[in-house]
Amino acid sequence: SYPVDVDAIRADFPILERKVGGDISTPGEHDDDDTPLVYLDNAATSHTPEQVVDAIVDYYHGYNSNVHRGIHHLSQEASVAYENAHDRVAEFIGASGGREEVVFTKNTTESMNLVAYAWGLDELGPGDSVVMTEMEHHASLVTWQQIAKKTGAEVRYIRVDDDGRLDMEHAKELIDDSTKMVSVVHVSNTLGTVNPVSELADMAHEVGSYIFVDGAQSVPTRPVDVEDIDADFFAFSGHKMCGPTGIGALYGKRDILEEMQPYLYGGEMIRSVTYEDSTWEDLPWKFEAGTPPIAQGVGFAAAVDYLDDIGMENVQAHEELLAEYAYDQLSEFDDIEIYGPPGDDRGGLVAFNLDSVHAHDLSSILNEQGVAIRAGDHCTQPLHDKLGVAASTRASFYIYNTREEVDKLVDAIDAARELFA
Ligand code: PMP
Repeated sequence: SYPVDVDAIRADFPILERKVGGDISTPGEHDDDDTPLVYLDNAATSHTPEQVVDAIVDYYHGYNSNVHRGIHHLSQEASVAYENAHDRVAEFIGASGGREEVVFTKNTTESMNLVAYAWGLDELGPGDSVVMTEMEHHASLVTWQQIAKKTGAEVRYIRVDDDGRLDMEHAKELIDDSTKMVSVVHVSNTLGTVNPVSELADMAHEVGSYIFVDGAQSVPTRPVDVEDIDADFFAFSGHKMCGPTGIGALYGKRDILEEMQPYLYGGEMIRSVTYEDSTWEDLPWKFEAGTPPIAQGVGFAAAVDYLDDIGMENVQAHEELLAEYAYDQLSEFDDIEIYGPPGDDRGGLVAFNLDSVHAHDLSSILNEQGVAIRAGDHCTQPLHDKLGVAASTRASFYIYNTREEVDKLVDAIDAARELFA
């Protein structure tokens, strides 16, 4: 048995029933596919349940229109749905300010860039520091690194210890009076580590710094309350949590967002414009220039509804169960090295290497057996350098995965081992 009703959930995801292995040059035509799919690449992107697809279809069938500008009926309906979607997402992460504290973006990466450009370029300078961790995703690492170069600020990285956890003594040393931003990943997409973000928030606030939490892997997989964490900024992506691609969110405390200048300029984000100057719309629209992702916003809210119906505590329990099961299975083999903390203390993913088989070779053997995993550096190149490997293989789980699928992964690894022996 499982913490969630896996059979009922799987029925909501028809893609899980498809087969793979045929000609990929004709996406959508599956006649020559013959191998059942085992989808274990959920940290990259999750699948989309019928309920979310239906919400998007209903939007296009029923009230597709541009928002904010029109006074006609369809535009008003679209506006209500799009604005309410902000409130729904805000509620999901415990943002009591509602829509004013949730900006819709393209993804976590854009949320990070929004703050780096709109806040960082204005506020950072020589003598300031941005503190990150050695396990940051490129979304934050590259963004702050490059904004620091432009502004003359320094970047610092909190050490990751041999167990894949943050060295909090080192964090205490690094976060000091020069620190203006602490940018940390909540759940590592490579190590599976769950970082003590509230503690880091306290450390940041003690020195007058902001904290930006990258929640790309946490919001989809566990209950998150941005106010409990006391995050100043918090980012996540719809496509990793049953939602469509093309939409993500930036949470920011209202007073901070009020102070910030816009990141993108154009239509929909202004209040008034003359040839000489312009003023800005209220939050969050000030940060949403141009026609926004309306259908995606509607789908995002439906995804949040879907997850809430299952219950995020149950989602987390299911994730942890599968992660521990996979960790235990894989650690039985001497020729497999697993990265990150022990199986009972991690998010729902396991990255590993099989001795003497390159991660990419392993993934193509697994692919031949229908097992979809990710091979590469998972957008954490410096962390892989530190681990002393160029790449790793990552299996990541979601609400529809089963122990049998983990077993199939282990069997497929066995087959690869024999092939390369
Ligand atoms: N941060 C983490 C921890 C992630 O796992 C990802 C997705 N791989 C991102 C940021 C970036 O998300 P997106 O590609 O949706 O912007």
